[in-house]
Amino acid sequence: MEPRIQGLNTHLVHTGELEDPLYHGAVSPLYLSTSYAFDEVDIKRYPRNFNTPNQEALGHKIAALENKEAALIFGSGMAAVSTAIMGLVSSGDHIVFQDDLYGGTRNLALADLRRFGIEFSMAKGLEIKDFESEIRPNTKLIYVETPSNPLLKIIDLDMIGRLAKKHGIISMIDNTFASPVNQVPDEFGIDVVIHSATKYMGGHSDISAGAIATSNELIAPIWSMAKSLGGNLSEMTVWLLERSIKTMGLRVHRQNENALAMAHFLSAHHAINGVYYPGLVEHPGHEIAKKQMKGFGGMMSFELRSGLDARFFQQQLKLIKPSMSLAGVESTVLSPTMTSHHSLTLEERKNQGISEGLIRFSVGIEEVSDLQRDIEQAIAKTENHG
Ligand SMILES: *Cc1c(COP(=O)(O)O)cnc(C)c1O
Repeated sequence: MEPRIQGLNTHLVHTGELEDPLYHGAVSPLYLSTSYAFDEVDIKRYPRNFNTPNQEALGHKIAALENKEAALIFGSGMAAVSTAIMGLVSSGDHIVFQDDLYGGTRNLALADLRRFGIEFSMAKGLEIKDFESEIRPNTKLIYVETPSNPLLKIIDLDMIGRLAKKHGIISMIDNTFASPVNQVPDEFGIDVVIHSATKYMGGHSDISAGAIATSNELIAPIWSMAKSLGGNLSEMTVWLLERSIKTMGLRVHRQNENALAMAHFLSAHHAINGVYYPGLVEHPGHEIAKKQMKGFGGMMSFELRSGLDARFFQQQLKLIKPSMSLAGVESTVLSPTMTSHHSLTLEERKNQGISEGLIRFSVGIEEVSDLQRDIEQAIAKTENHG
């Protein structure tokens, strides 16, 4: 009998791996075929059917990480988000979204779901009443992101799981910021888990991919939609993503440690007004984060003291690069008002608590002392900048 794997890093390295019966190589062989002979059980293997050998292998790994029965791999995080939603809701259905959503998901709701006659509303806050009061007779789905972008707000997953069950609604989470290393939403009864694998799963800022993990029952309609939308990932990138995921535990644990150290450093700094990191005891979501997360993650935001020029500050950083995206082994920063939340009105940004001086910080695996020195020198230059 094969021993059952229980440890995270063992899953990350081994689960789903393909054997190489010809040469006994150490890693999964890469099958590039787009054409496969029909087999006796009539499985039609084809890239856009999401069932090539490498896609299936990686699906097993990601399903195991999220404690789910099945997973599908996509060409981007947004392909996963849109396919999951459109696979499960129909015209006339209603969705309750958390208010501060990832920009692409917000855009999907505002620009596209409406066009297809799918109703939605945004919960006004993070409490159970904020979500429950939005539920209507036709509500089919509750969709959350925790920790959220960019203020790292925390939603109680146990509360969402129970609320969804009580009303017979499907619960869905974008688990990108936490990664399955830090948060397994299935433990709290969340039905569908989505990842932008472009982030922590890829981890090196060189792969665009997405994933959905859920039950066999719910994967069926999502899979059907997926074949129609056709957002599969290329085999080469599926293989690269499998390789990247093997080190996700090591990377994310280090990022957790670095981020906590940086959060303490920034909190104590005279030029920083506030730090948003769920690992800090003063963070409003700290107690819930402690309950539902195994680590507090590598993402945070901080606010420069008013009067300091956020654009100039970012330009002075030598090691930490101002860049789009997040979760790579290298540390990066961005200004939400200049990038991800640029399209929101000033009023909307104010309501979400996003100020001009806010900097989102994706903490990498470098030495903390180097990261601190880089921020220190950039702040000194910004303070002298008139
Ligand atoms: C990046 C991101 C996405 C979208 O993923 P892409 O791979 O860029 O399509 C969705 N959700 C969150 C939280 C993200 O950070």
